[in-house]
Amino acid sequence: MTQTGTKVADLRYITTLKNKPYIRVYIYRSSDDTKDYQVTTVHGKVSSCDTPATHPCYICKDAQRREDERKPVSTDQKGTLNGSCGGHAFSLLK
Ligand SMILES: [Zn+2]
Repeated sequence: MTQTGTKVADLRYITTLKNKPYIRVYIYRSSDDTKDYQVTTVHGKVSSCDTPATHPCYICKDAQRREDERKPVSTDQKGTLNGSCGGHAFSLLK
């Protein structure tokens, strides 16, 4: 069985640091199924990856794509937070 060309990133799970929710760690299985690789993302950007391949590798790219997909959702939720702030306007006109 020879498979050349595109490798498929085999994501195992994603974990978030408890006290640093902006840091997410992606755990991938290597393509030969012998070890796990770890990709760390900070604020939606891949910051480190421990595969021996040249970076950005296919695993980095997969993690980055998943982070990119998440972004619009979390921005949306934050955007509605200030909706009902009181109606006081600053009166600097005097
Ligand atoms: Zn990488």
